[in-house]
Amino acid sequence: MKPVERHLADILGTVRPLAPLEVDLERALGTVLAEDVTAPVSLPPFDNSAMDGYAVRAGDVVNVPVSLSVTEDVAAGDGALRAIGSGMVARIMTGAPVPAGADAVVPVEWTDAGRTQVTIHKQVQPGNAIRLIGEDVRAGDVVLREGTRIGAAQLGILAGVGRRRVRVRPQPRVVVLSTGAELAEPGTPLGPGQIWESNSFMLAAAVREAGAEGFRAGAVTDDPNRFLDILDAQLLRADAVITSGGVSMGAYEPVKEALAPLGRVVFEKVAMQPGMPQGFGLVGDDNVPIFTLPGNPVSAFVSFVLFVRPALRQMQGLPATLPETVRATTTAPLHSPPGRRSFLRAILTDGTVAPVHGQGSHQLAALASANALVIVPEDVTVLAEGATVEVIPL
Ligand code: AMP
Ligand code: MG
Repeated sequence: MKPVERHLADILGTVRPLAPLEVDLERALGTVLAEDVTAPVSLPPFDNSAMDGYAVRAGDVVNVPVSLSVTEDVAAGDGALRAIGSGMVARIMTGAPVPAGADAVVPVEWTDAGRTQVTIHKQVQPGNAIRLIGEDVRAGDVVLREGTRIGAAQLGILAGVGRRRVRVRPQPRVVVLSTGAELAEPGTPLGPGQIWESNSFMLAAAVREAGAEGFRAGAVTDDPNRFLDILDAQLLRADAVITSGGVSMGAYEPVKEALAPLGRVVFEKVAMQPGMPQGFGLVGDDNVPIFTLPGNPVSAFVSFVLFVRPALRQMQGLPATLPETVRATTTAPLHSPPGRRSFLRAILTDGTVAPVHGQGSHQLAALASANALVIVPEDVTVLAEGATVEVIPL
C-alpha cells in the first residue's frame, strides 16, 4: 500500500497554483495576494485630531482655568486653515487637520464648550489627542505581503492605502460530484434501500472552509457513461473536481470504470484508515485535477483533510503540507489495523483526547460530534490509555 505522505507528494507534484489576475476590491475577499502592497502616502496623511475639542498651543494651557478666544471651527475634511496664534484656539472635530501653530488638542470634556471664548480647566501636554502623520504607515511601507489571504481587515487596509484593484490568486472553483444509485436528495422521502446524500454537501462546505469556492453538482447514479457526461459538463467551470463513491473493489463503481481506461487518473490503495481507496489525476483538455474520494462519509472527510485541502492551498499559492498536529494524552486505549495509519475521531480538551463512540467510516454522527482526529501510526496496532498521541485538531 502507498504511504500517506507519498500520495500527498504525488498530488502536490501535479497541482499548479492558479494564475494571478487583477480584481476589483469588491471581489477580493477570500483570495490570496499575488503582490506586495505598499502605501503610496503616509497614513494618516496629515496630523489630525483624535477627539472633538480645541486645538491649542499647550503653552497657553499651563495655568488653568484659562479663557482663550476661538478663531474658527475645523471639521473633518476641511482644507485651508488659519494658523493658531498665541492665546487663540480653534474648535476642532475628530479627524480634522490640526492647524499650524497648534500642538495639542484639549477634549471638549475639559472645557465649557464655548463657541467664541472657551474656558479650559485642565492642563494639556504637547501632542495630546493628535494623531501624527505616518503613525500607522509611512509612504512606501509594505502593508500586506504576497501570499496573504484577504479577510475583512486586509480588505480594509487595501482600501485604506487607496487601492481599487489588486493582483491576487483567485479562489479555486471546485465542483463536487457524488455517485451512488442509493442516494436520495435530502428533503425528499427515502425509498427502499436509499440513504440521504450527504457527501456533496459536506465536501462543498469543506472546500469553502478551505478558502475556495465549492459547487455541488449533485448526485449521479452508478452509470459510468452518465458520470462521464456530467463530469464533462462540469469541467467548464472547474479548477478542480472532487468525486465521492464508486472507487472501491466491488461492481457498480462508476468513477473507476469511467476514468481508469483514460489512463490519467490513478486508483490505488493508500495505507490509511478510513479512506484506503484513493484516486487522483487530471481530466479534460485543461488538465483539471480530480480527487476521487471513497464514498463512506468519514473516509471522504478524512481524505479531504489529508489530500484535498493541501492541494487547494497550493492552488492558491499557499504553503501546503499535511495538517498540523498537536500532542495529547489519550483517555482510552486505541486500536488500529497493522500497516495502516489510523485517523480516529475524538474530542480534544486541554491536552487530553477522548475517542468518540462509533469509529466506523459510515458513522457520520460520530464525526460531527468530534473536534479532532487522533493519529495511530502504521506500525502500531494498540495504544494504552495515557499514551501520548499526535492529534489533528479539526
Ligand atoms: P462507495 O464508495 O460508492 O462504495 O460507497 C461506500 C459507502 O458510502 C456506501 O455505503 C455508500 O452508500 C456510502 N455513500 C457513498 N456516497 C455517499 C454520499 N454521497 N452520501 C452518503 N453516503 C454515501
Ligand atoms: Mg457507490
